[in-house]
Amino acid sequence: MTDSTATDKPNNFIATLIESELTQGSLNKIVTRFPPEPNGYLHIGHAKAISVNFGLAASFGGDCHLRFDDTNPGKEEQEYVDAIKEDVSWLGYQWAGEVRYASDYFDQLFQWALHLINAGQAYVCDLSAEQASEYRGWATAPGKDSPFRNRSVEENLALIEKMRAGDFDEGACVLRAKIDMSSPNMNLRDPILYRIRKISHHQTGDKWCIYPSYDFAHGQEDAIEGVTHSICTLEFADHRPLYDWFLEQLPVKNTPRQFEFGRLNINYTVMSKRKLKQLVDDRVVQGWDDPRMPTISGLRRRGYTPAALRNFCDSLAVAKTDGVVDIAQLEYFIRDDLNTSAPRAMAVLRPLKVVISNYPEDQIEQLTIPSHPDLDLGERQVPFSREIYIDQEDFKEEYSKKFKKKFCPGKRIRLRNAYVIEAVDFEKDTEGNVVQVNALLIENTLGVNPEDGINPKGVVHWVSVSEGIAATVRIYGRLFNCEAPDRGDENFLNFVDGESLREVQNCWVEPSLASAKAEASFQFEREGYFVADRYDHGSDKPVFNMTIGLRDNK
Ligand code: ATP
Ligand code: MG
Repeated sequence: MTDSTATDKPNNFIATLIESELTQGSLNKIVTRFPPEPNGYLHIGHAKAISVNFGLAASFGGDCHLRFDDTNPGKEEQEYVDAIKEDVSWLGYQWAGEVRYASDYFDQLFQWALHLINAGQAYVCDLSAEQASEYRGWATAPGKDSPFRNRSVEENLALIEKMRAGDFDEGACVLRAKIDMSSPNMNLRDPILYRIRKISHHQTGDKWCIYPSYDFAHGQEDAIEGVTHSICTLEFADHRPLYDWFLEQLPVKNTPRQFEFGRLNINYTVMSKRKLKQLVDDRVVQGWDDPRMPTISGLRRRGYTPAALRNFCDSLAVAKTDGVVDIAQLEYFIRDDLNTSAPRAMAVLRPLKVVISNYPEDQIEQLTIPSHPDLDLGERQVPFSREIYIDQEDFKEEYSKKFKKKFCPGKRIRLRNAYVIEAVDFEKDTEGNVVQVNALLIENTLGVNPEDGINPKGVVHWVSVSEGIAATVRIYGRLFNCEAPDRGDENFLNFVDGESLREVQNCWVEPSLASAKAEASFQFEREGYFVADRYDHGSDKPVFNMTIGLRDNK
């Protein structure tokens, strides 16, 4: 699998623009950034933003920064900072220089707030949140000036120092820009620059009790870092005039520009950290990295590979509209990757014992089997013995045309990579379930058809009873049973599928799988792709998570 981000130039409106700027010489070097707020784990929507930002920088020989947008300490945690760094690295991207934090610039931002106050462009406002929203008006009705709008520079300077010193309670006042209360763009109606928050910050501790707003911080951070193209999602388009306003008013050295593209949404899932956090907090899932989650760490634990996620992101348009992508498109890319990278192995998920009565009782035959039918992924030893397991679904009590490829009394079947056997009869338990099939091995059929010309119609996978290893296999369905769980009026939690995780304890896997490393992927023949669980898998007790079935049969 090649890394297309590093070789091909992306084909989208931002890339076209950058290309022409570089050609014309108005731009020397492109600098982008990925700016997550550390208030949750990254999801696949973020993977798209990561691939756009890191991809553009890589294609045009520039830099991409990783900057934590940590202006809201109430919702942020070090755990999220660590998880985000791990996810970005795991995806295969390397940020330029050290990890950066919006909080690295709090001193500078505060100086710029003073600059605006001194220029008569910012004031401390004592309106309560409720009053302020009333004064703000609404989209079609202009707002009203705050009664505190015309405070003197001296008064504002004194008040901001008191705010900073912790003399006021949370919510008592805010610092606002003085722009235009009748602007048709609500973002320009004297937006908030600083709020009082008496909370410790994961990076700055108790140094600050006032924190800048996203709007006051973001463009200035870009300017400080020399970001040239500040790429974000469409909901920020209405903030762009404000982004530009701050850069015009302040003595910044660089003037980054903001560009917006459509958010990635995928059907059958939700894509917002707030909702994903709710799933975690309410214990609907087992954690942020639950393999049913659309988080990067969840997809990783599910067995998705960095290459599959990057290829998926690269396949998406960078457009000016939000879109919903079919989950099948994501699934296509993981199958595509694993088809050529995952070794084959045999695992029986619903074991049915077959006793081959003409095979010596204590004989074990080690068969050497290639790990991939077409590619050189090595070989493994698979032991064959008198008693084997096959899948319950591969056996029928009676022959029928509909199931002509199945194993049934009087009929033959090819054991994958091994012999042809013929069923004689079967045994049932008291509840009427078939619990054992008695069979005969057809001599000289290892890799060749029977000499009598009676060829088996089907091929089944199998595992030796005495040599196989018991494993736990987790089968995942979609977490939501509805295509758009968060689009209607109903609570998205009502659409959670309570049966989306099925843990099967007594599966039997071929012994080579015991030495599988954590996070190694395999194709279990005729079943699908499975990954050795990152945390729970061990050679004494193998645990595999189902990544995806072999075919899209939804
Ligand atoms: P969420 O609503 O899920 O919390 P967010 O936009 O608040 O997402 P941030 O941490 O602020 O999350 O996002 C970091 C970057 O990722 C931003 O530039 C944001 O625009 C981008 N991003 C977030 N979600 C998506 C998405 N679904 N598709 C594309 N880009 C996204
Ligand atoms: Mg956000």
